[in-house]
Amino acid sequence: AKAAGRNRVAFFEALMHVEVQDRLHLERDLREALLLEQFHLHLQSQFNAEGTEIGGELLLRWQHPLRGAVSPLQFIPVAEDSGLIIELGNRVLRQACLALARLQKAGCLQSLSVNVSPRQFRRDDFVDGLRRIIFETGAPASFLILEVTEGLLIENWQDTIARMSELGAMGLRFSIDDFGTGYSSLAYLKKLPLYELKVDKSFVQDTPSDPNDTVIVEAVVSMAKHLNLRVVAEGVETQAQRDFLVAAGCDCLQGYLLARPGPLEDWLLKRGA
Ligand code: C2E
Ligand code: CA
Ligand code: CA
Ligand code: CA
Repeated sequence: AKAAGRNRVAFFEALMHVEVQDRLHLERDLREALLLEQFHLHLQSQFNAEGTEIGGELLLRWQHPLRGAVSPLQFIPVAEDSGLIIELGNRVLRQACLALARLQKAGCLQSLSVNVSPRQFRRDDFVDGLRRIIFETGAPASFLILEVTEGLLIENWQDTIARMSELGAMGLRFSIDDFGTGYSSLAYLKKLPLYELKVDKSFVQDTPSDPNDTVIVEAVVSMAKHLNLRVVAEGVETQAQRDFLVAAGCDCLQGYLLARPGPLEDWLLKRGA
């Protein structure tokens, strides 16, 4: 039994070693990917209740020559831990602003939403960096929506308010992504300069058949309405979900049913931008 225990320990140590190695390799490949420009942006359109396209969310894609397409769920955490998210995030913001400037020039402006990591947002130079990008690209800042998660609101709460207010004064808008999955209190909702809530797809998934999720979504929508916030439902995959979400009062829908993410460049060209 003792030998078996020792074997098990050895096995887990070996496993951990493999995991650490994997992570190091991924980090090395991420660094290289930044140099070789292996990252591309996709856009997933968002629609209002009538079905009119009103904007889109930008989603990072990484195509590695050997790994193939690597999911952001896999590489974003590594980019965050290694600090590479700063460079990566800045590039996404710059591309978003360039896209907005093109849309404006073509006379077909729509809002673009960008995911911002807590580590990126908390940098002391985040506000100034973004100000510079907006200035250099000439982007209409009020069409840029920054998606942040509830995790950001737990620590350094005063700092977050100050930073959001500063960016808000520049015209930028904020969305709480994956709403309902974090552990933050609801108190911040009325204290922050927010524009929208994104109902996490885990709540949307089992509507309208699951009575618990149905009640949760209805409650979130009702609360958002009272706080004057726009509500976006993400992960809409079926017509039944869509009918329910529209009836519940969601302002905006996003999901495979309506549009899959596709290359940002194609989307811009299709709109003459
Ligand atoms: P997220 O912000 O919650 O983005 C929504 C995810 O849901 C995207 O996954 C999207 O492709 C997927 N999705 C869209 N419609 C549907 C649907 O109908 N059903 C289902 N099941 N999924 C749907 P993706 O592109 O793999 O991104 C995963 C996560 O990676 C994002 O979750 C976001 O947290 C992060 N991410 C992506 N791009 C960036 C970025 O530029 N910066 C940062 N910091 N994070 C990013
Ligand atoms: Ca998002
Ligand atoms: Ca989300
Ligand atoms: Ca998510």
